[in-house]
Amino acid sequence: MTKQAACPSVNLRLCKKCKICINICPKKVLEPDENGLPHVIYPNKCTACGLCTAHCPDFAIEIMPLPGAGSGEDHTE
Ligand code: SF4
Ligand code: SF4
Repeated sequence: MTKQAACPSVNLRLCKKCKICINICPKKVLEPDENGLPHVIYPNKCTACGLCTAHCPDFAIEIMPLPGAGSGEDHTE
């Protein structure tokens, strides 16, 4: 069972603040900031499922592999 370490990356110039990605993410990785733009709050929860990317109407979000992926270490707290 391999969990891919990845994190969504939002292109703020393309994002229209529709919040589809925020609402569709099953892991609640994203939340709107004070301007309504999606902000990554739990990058470690992202499973790279691709739902946010697939549903963004403006192609403004993509999944980026996290550097150092595969170490298996968990540095929470
Ligand atoms: S790839 Fe999946 S888990 Fe990761 S932020 Fe997008 S919808 Fe959420
Ligand atoms: S779905 Fe795309 S356009 Fe809508 S808030 Fe997310 S990144 Fe922005």
